[in-house]
Amino acid sequence: MPDVTLYDTRTRSLQPFQPRDPARVGIYACGPTVYARVHVGNARPFVVFSQLKRFLEHEGYGVTLVGNITDINDKIYTAAKAAGVPSGELAAAMAKAYREDTDRIGLGRPDAEPHATEFVPQIIDLIQRLLDADAAYVAEGDVYFRVRTVENYGELSRRDVDQMDQGEGVEGADLKQDPLDFALWKAWKEGEDTSWDAPWGKGRPGWHIECSAMAEALLGVEFDIHGGGVDLVFPHHENEAAQTLAARGAPLARIWMHNGMLELVGEKMSKSLGNIRGLHEVLDEVGGEVLVLYFSSGHYRQPLAFSDERLEDAKRSAERIRDAARRLVRGESAEALRPHRDAFFAALRNDFNTAEALASLYGWIRDANRSEEAVGDADLREMLEVLGLEGLLTAPEGAPEEAKELAVQRDQARRDKDWAEADRLRDELLTMGWIVRDGADGPELVPAS
Ligand SMILES: [Zn+2]
Repeated sequence: MPDVTLYDTRTRSLQPFQPRDPARVGIYACGPTVYARVHVGNARPFVVFSQLKRFLEHEGYGVTLVGNITDINDKIYTAAKAAGVPSGELAAAMAKAYREDTDRIGLGRPDAEPHATEFVPQIIDLIQRLLDADAAYVAEGDVYFRVRTVENYGELSRRDVDQMDQGEGVEGADLKQDPLDFALWKAWKEGEDTSWDAPWGKGRPGWHIECSAMAEALLGVEFDIHGGGVDLVFPHHENEAAQTLAARGAPLARIWMHNGMLELVGEKMSKSLGNIRGLHEVLDEVGGEVLVLYFSSGHYRQPLAFSDERLEDAKRSAERIRDAARRLVRGESAEALRPHRDAFFAALRNDFNTAEALASLYGWIRDANRSEEAVGDADLREMLEVLGLEGLLTAPEGAPEEAKELAVQRDQARRDKDWAEADRLRDELLTMGWIVRDGADGPELVPAS
């Protein structure tokens, strides 16, 4: 197998990828907390780790990708209370919406998508193990992790232990033996509509222990790659690593990979204005392939600017690939194009640099377009499949009149701000096999893969 290197957050260095068992590589990527519809930024880890799985499989590895769904969390209880619905109902509805939204990206599903609510017995076992090892203590029904029992705590996030804030606010502050300690379990409080029974009392698990338990249950300890957004390094991943080390005497994961965040630019969209765009809205506008191409245009570790201009760039790139693909014939690609294809994979082997890989892919297209003889599509197909963009190889067929009529009606409903009707028409189109996108030149119909 060719050498693959990946950047490891813990050691702050590029590491040769040497899985324990090449046939069974385990990747665990932290997924969303389902208290609201996800925004476009939440899709980045989904895309990065889905593509990484495809790439490692291309390199000959067998890969299991686990992407969890956090459906036990304070944010859910707060949001459910505000909306006046049972918290379980809100979490189930938002988890369903997450699956539907991410389905539309077109990269398939992770091999397993554990929900915290399905793993409460394993979570309780892990907490019990920490209590038995004296790495945790019970205080009025809460359970806290004794951070200073872990010698190298702070190693992952490179923070000074004495400067750390677990971000738990005043909640439980008077119960903690050390302000650095964090909650593994929170006792049930009056008015909360969800709880589980544990040997130390009724309540619910904390966020960090949920991931430690789910990852171990599905991949064992010392699995190959633990991933997530760079915003999760502290406290979430630092705490996951500490808990598992204290409970099992082994590291949770061998390599820690973190993707950079989306940065909002321009006046039209900002966090303070509260108008961060939903993933489903961006998919309505540009579709899965353009979104994947947009994400692939930056190195996964770097922040990525999010703007209409960048989406337009990705749209043009998608058209360029589609145009080139239409001129290709089925079969082996010309030998002269080989260096571009090889450079594409070399870039991915070097810390999964999709931005550099795409530059090689465009070089391949440029030379293929210049060729006076018919060019075979094999190289392009191979490259696009690894990025999950094979859909660009097939030119969409024209939509039937009936679908076009529905698209016009939906456009009118949107103008009238009748969102329910617009959604209904969109769903009707989807059952007919068409996705409607709101482009700059009005609605456009594309086949639902
Ligand atoms: Zn997690």
